[in-house]
Amino acid sequence: MAPRGSRVKHYESWHPEIRLTSKRAFALAAIIGVVAALLGWFLLGQGRRSDEIPGVTYKAEFINPGPMLHLVDVLASDALEGRAAGTAGNEAARAFVRKRFEEIGLKPYLASGWEQPVTILPRPGLDAPGPGANLIGWVPGETPGEGPMIVVTAHYDHLGVVDGQIYNGADDNASGTGALVAAAEHFAGNPPKHDILFVALDAEEVGFLGAREFMRDPATDVSRAALNINLDMVSRSDVGELYAAGTYHTPALADLITGVAKDAPITLLMGHDRPEEGINDWTLQSDHAVFHQAGIPFLYFGVEDHPGYHQPSDDYAAITPDFYVRAADTLVMAIRAADAQLPAIFALRRAPVPPAPTEGLPE
Ligand SMILES: [Zn+2]
Repeated sequence: MAPRGSRVKHYESWHPEIRLTSKRAFALAAIIGVVAALLGWFLLGQGRRSDEIPGVTYKAEFINPGPMLHLVDVLASDALEGRAAGTAGNEAARAFVRKRFEEIGLKPYLASGWEQPVTILPRPGLDAPGPGANLIGWVPGETPGEGPMIVVTAHYDHLGVVDGQIYNGADDNASGTGALVAAAEHFAGNPPKHDILFVALDAEEVGFLGAREFMRDPATDVSRAALNINLDMVSRSDVGELYAAGTYHTPALADLITGVAKDAPITLLMGHDRPEEGINDWTLQSDHAVFHQAGIPFLYFGVEDHPGYHQPSDDYAAITPDFYVRAADTLVMAIRAADAQLPAIFALRRAPVPPAPTEGLPE
């Protein structure tokens, strides 16, 4: 059964105020040559297997590490200029992710296709932003289009070019995007009980705009969402630790995490979700905040801040690939555990939380 209908109008007829300016057309033309070269590299790297990857000794149980690492390498390359929302590099990044969604056998969720348009507002340094979009694919469960569903999210945008320096955002959040695709590939080949949406979100860094649009658009039918699993910064840890935040708000999910942690190939910890932790409370610091405020339980997976956090040094060369592959396997384990008990998790939905004073501020 097909999911609900969606918008049919093209973004530009919808937002007549936004047109392709000559400046933007120039930027696009400039990037097309580089991206064409990148495409060849992207296609060449698809077949790599885990035993050929430098720095990875762990044998993955659920995911295919080669294409995952390669996608991160491509998304975090200088050619995409840091993937800032509304730029040509962001648009090119989106095309690479969409290509992977198609290759791994995801289905487009919206009647209009893969993309859910997101309005990107002008900001200093980008007075005429291009159109933004979330990419939404799904894997049907045993009752397609009905019952509770899991919404897995990861933002693919990053900070772009600031003061002449490219912020490549390999860990933040090419890594979450790569892990999302890898998990989606697992479930496309191993169908779950319940529908799972895999959403590559745009414009997280400028105020969760993609997540807000996902929540607002009636075509995405969030009334069925039992749980948001958000992946943001999952590839860089020297100590082999990944956090799952959210169990403070939904204590009943602690057992799920404890169960996964027991068998996980990394150290999976709970925390970073209590108000008394101040800046180390991550509850409102990534796209899961939008689900949380809508009363939908979330589990956010991420590493502790590292020296590369929001720095130009957040490069592919600085991620810890063996940890990343282990983390991605762990994320699949968590999604499988949630799928096994999803009706009970759906019952944990709450009334929407009133917006906090920090709402709307980028992380
Ligand atoms: Zn991020």
